[in-house]
Amino acid sequence: MGGEKQARMSLADVAIAGGGIVGLSLGLELRLRGMTVTVLERGQAMRAASWAAGGMLAVEDPQNPPELMELARLSGRLYPEWLRRLEELSSLRVPMRTRWTLQHVGPKVREGIATAEEIGALAPGLRADAVRFRLIEEGSVDPRDICAALPKAFVAAGGTLVEECEVSAVECGAESVSLRTEQGEFAARTFVDCRGAWAKEVSVEPVKGQMVEMRCALERLKCVVRAPEVYLIPRGDGRVAVGATLERVGFDTRVDEGSIAALMRVARELMPELEAMDPVKSWAGLRPGTPDGLPVMGAAAGLEEKRAKSRCWYASGLYRDGILLAPATARVVAQVITREEPDVPIEVFSAVRFADARRGVGKLAV
Ligand SMILES: Cc1cc2nc3c(=O)[nH]c(=O)nc-3n(C[C@H](O)[C@H](O)[C@H](O)COP(=O)(O)OP(=O)(O)OC[C@H]3O[C@@H](n4cnc5c(N)ncnc54)[C@H](O)[C@@H]3O)c2cc1C
Repeated sequence: MGGEKQARMSLADVAIAGGGIVGLSLGLELRLRGMTVTVLERGQAMRAASWAAGGMLAVEDPQNPPELMELARLSGRLYPEWLRRLEELSSLRVPMRTRWTLQHVGPKVREGIATAEEIGALAPGLRADAVRFRLIEEGSVDPRDICAALPKAFVAAGGTLVEECEVSAVECGAESVSLRTEQGEFAARTFVDCRGAWAKEVSVEPVKGQMVEMRCALERLKCVVRAPEVYLIPRGDGRVAVGATLERVGFDTRVDEGSIAALMRVARELMPELEAMDPVKSWAGLRPGTPDGLPVMGAAAGLEEKRAKSRCWYASGLYRDGILLAPATARVVAQVITREEPDVPIEVFSAVRFADARRGVGKLAV
C-alpha cells in the first residue's frame, strides 16, 4: 500500500465526520477532556454553513422553539469563556462584535419596549415608526473570525484535522468503529456524525440562506436589529451583514440577484442610510434544518447492532442557531459520550424521533 490510499488504522478515541463549527467545537471539547480526536472533513474546514452564517447569538429570538431555550441560555453563558479559549489556543482575536439587540415585537408586548433615546443611542437613523422593538442584551460575533480561529485552536489543543477527506461509510464493530474514506480507513472507539445539512439519514435537510454585506457610518449602527423581514448585524467596522432568505431548494448554493436586491431594499427601508458595498458581497449557505426545528443530538439508538448504540452519535440539525449553540452542544454531547449527566437534558433532541430517521440512523452511506 502506498500514497494517499494507505489505510490509517491507528485507533482514536473519537472520530468526527464534519469540520464545521459543531464538529470542531465538539472535537475541541473532547480533546480538552484528554481524548484523542480526529475530525474528517470532506472539503475545507469551516467553509459550509458555519462560514455563511450571520453570527447573531439569538438566545431570546421568539422564533426559536421553546424546547431550545435551556440549551440556548447555556450557550449564551458559555460564549465569553469559549471565545477566550479560542483566542488563547489560536493566538487570533475573536471578539464579540456587538452586545445589544433590537428585537421586533408584536403589538401585545408592553414591557421592555425600546425608548426613542435608546434607539437614538444604538441605531440613530433606524425607522422605528412602523416597527416596535424591545432592547435586549444579546450579542453577535463575526463567524469568519471563528472560521479562522477554531480549526487552529483544535489543532493547537492536539486534535487531528484531516481535510479533503469524505467519510463514505461507517461500520460499527464490537470494539471500534471503522470509517471508509478516499484517504483510507480510519478507526475510532466512538464516532460522531456532525455533517450539518448533509446528515440526511436523521431527517436533516438543507435550508438555504442568502445574505449580503452593506455598509454605514461606524457610529450609526451599534447593535443587531431583528425586524420582521430582515436582520442587520454590524461588524463594528462599518460593514453590516444583512440577512437572510429561508429557502427549501435542496443543495443549491447559488446567489440570485433578485433575492439580494430584495434584501437590500427592505434593509434600506428600515435604515435608509445603509449603502451597497462596491463590489456587492453576497453569499449563500445551507442551514441544517429538521422537520420540527430542533437539533438532532444523541446516540444512534435503534440500530440492529445494539452495541453500536454507544459507539455512534449524532450532533447535527442546529438549523438557524448553530453559531450560538455550538459551545453548549459541544459541552452536552461530550458529557453524554463520557457518561456524565449533561447540563441540559437532550432526550427531546433524540436521533430517532422521526419515522424516517429510525430507518436511517447509524447507516451513514454517502
Ligand atoms: C445564511 C445563514 C445565516 C445564519 N445565521 C446564523 C446566525 O446568525 N446565528 C447562528 O447561531 N446561526 C446562524 N446560521 C446557522 C449556522 O450557520 C448553522 O447552524 C451552523 O453553522 C451549523 O454548523 P455545522 O457544523 O452543523 O454545519 P456546517 O458548518 O455546514 O459543517 C458541516 C460540515 O460537514 C462536512 N461534511 C458533509 N458531509 C461530509 C462527509 N460525508 N464526510 C466529511 N465531512 C462531511 C461539510 O463539508 C461541512 O464542512 C446561519 C446559517 C446560514 C446559512
